[in-house]
Amino acid sequence: MKKVICFLLIVMLVFLPSCKTVSDTDSGFDNNTKTGKVFTGDINDKKFTRFRQSDYCSHCQFVQTYKGCYYCKNRFIYFSSDGISKYMKLCSKPDCLHNDRDENCNAYANTHLIAYYDRYIYYISVCQNSYWLCRMSMDGTDHKNIKPIASAKEGCTAFFEHGYLYYYKGFLGLLGNVNTAIYKTAVFDNSESVVVLDVKDKGIAVDDFAWFYPQDGYIYIYSYSPETEYSLCRYSMETGKWSDFVNTEMCCQSVFTEENKVYWYLFDDGFYEYTYETGITKRVADAVAEGFYAISYNDEYIYAFQYSDKRDSGVAPMFYIYDRQYKLIDSVLIDIEMEDYILSVYLTELEDYVLLTSSLINKPPDYYLLKSEFGSGDIKVRKIGE
Ligand SMILES: [Zn+2]
Repeated sequence: MKKVICFLLIVMLVFLPSCKTVSDTDSGFDNNTKTGKVFTGDINDKKFTRFRQSDYCSHCQFVQTYKGCYYCKNRFIYFSSDGISKYMKLCSKPDCLHNDRDENCNAYANTHLIAYYDRYIYYISVCQNSYWLCRMSMDGTDHKNIKPIASAKEGCTAFFEHGYLYYYKGFLGLLGNVNTAIYKTAVFDNSESVVVLDVKDKGIAVDDFAWFYPQDGYIYIYSYSPETEYSLCRYSMETGKWSDFVNTEMCCQSVFTEENKVYWYLFDDGFYEYTYETGITKRVADAVAEGFYAISYNDEYIYAFQYSDKRDSGVAPMFYIYDRQYKLIDSVLIDIEMEDYILSVYLTELEDYVLLTSSLINKPPDYYLLKSEFGSGDIKVRKIGE
């Protein structure tokens, strides 16, 4: 059961090898991006370009910007100006029906992976038998191919952070991978990709290489073995040094990494912390309750939300809110009809809201909680767009 949530994440990142003919295949750099090695946008953008480790949709599926929120679902881009108004397909063409695989629809990007950087939305799409880094304007117009990053045959597992794309040539989590390197490339110019690291250097065999993500100058790597389950290590892009392994047992979605510590949760057991400086793992708090709870760690809160081992269980998920010292602040029953009770009801959080979904697979967020109600003992589950 431990692998359920992680499995979902991986499935959703697999790209379908259908081809959207992107409207403009020149490299399309304007004067602002041609030589833009240095970040030239608003410094506050850094918030919007950070890797969203705590999201329960797939990573790089939800993007917050100064204009509003973008959400990538079933290969379309949706937009909500404030995060809690209805998520609409990002296309303003008057006669467009926004149909699936309609290459003329501005919202259709044939992608599962988006990011914001310096006034553009970037995405990965399959075209001409390759995975391409592409971009579009923030209003959905002007799609451009920037550079190919992997062949369709190789496959691609990729994440954005701070204007760079980090990627692996293959589908991590699935069998049959042959590569062990992770590449990095800038989104803002057409420079070549470079190899950041090779997991072989840390003694990780290709079949054990389970997952990775970039975060604040590190690449975090999960390896898997049947005896110990998941173990985490990190590579510093600044010093070129690897950390020791931390045996979290869980993969990334119930684990949270920071500069000094690693945090994770084990079912029917409790919360754990590992400190890099001492190399010591401690069990720091008891389990939420019996059963399956997924955990999301955020700046101020820890959310624990129930899910089921049955798709149609009909059991409304409980949602617990803790502070970062594991003190229970409040809880609420999310009494909505879920399309699939195996999936997470929690999607992400914004400054003032927690976004929920009745269908992680098929819909943009459709419910939310107000953080200002946390601690009141009377948290309401609100419908997005109402
Ligand atoms: Zn359209």
